[in-house]
Amino acid sequence: MTYTGRCSCGSVTLAISGEPIGVRQCWCRQCQQVAGGGASYNVIFNAEDAVVSGELAASTWVAQSGNTLTHWRCAACGNPVYGQSSARTHLKVVRLGILDVGHGLKPQAVIWTDDAPDWALIDPALESWPQQPPVPPVPNPA
Ligand SMILES: [Zn+2]
Ligand SMILES: [Zn+2]
Repeated sequence: MTYTGRCSCGSVTLAISGEPIGVRQCWCRQCQQVAGGGASYNVIFNAEDAVVSGELAASTWVAQSGNTLTHWRCAACGNPVYGQSSARTHLKVVRLGILDVGHGLKPQAVIWTDDAPDWALIDPALESWPQQPPVPPVPNPA
């Protein structure tokens, strides 16, 4: 496995092969709600590369884009695990904090800065998007 992860109660585990398509910090309103305050931190993987085991609970909402977003969390402890868009079911947007320590990943881009509160500290070194950017190209397509 390239990356592994687990929720805080241990009932959900992740086994991920392959490298991420991108790592992003997101300030959209829904992410602030999911994160309970600030931005969310997300690692985009090909869906088939990220195997999630254990019982999940789901919530869905319609995004500003009109796409349906599904937020998957541990059914037992409620930790956010990953999200998925109806427009991009070939991707899983894994929450960075659920990956095991030592993954070495960090945000490359910050998105939805239009929705960030005025106290947000946004690293000027990161690629920045006011709203939703295009999906990053898949590295080394087969
Ligand atoms: Zn977001
Ligand atoms: Zn859990």
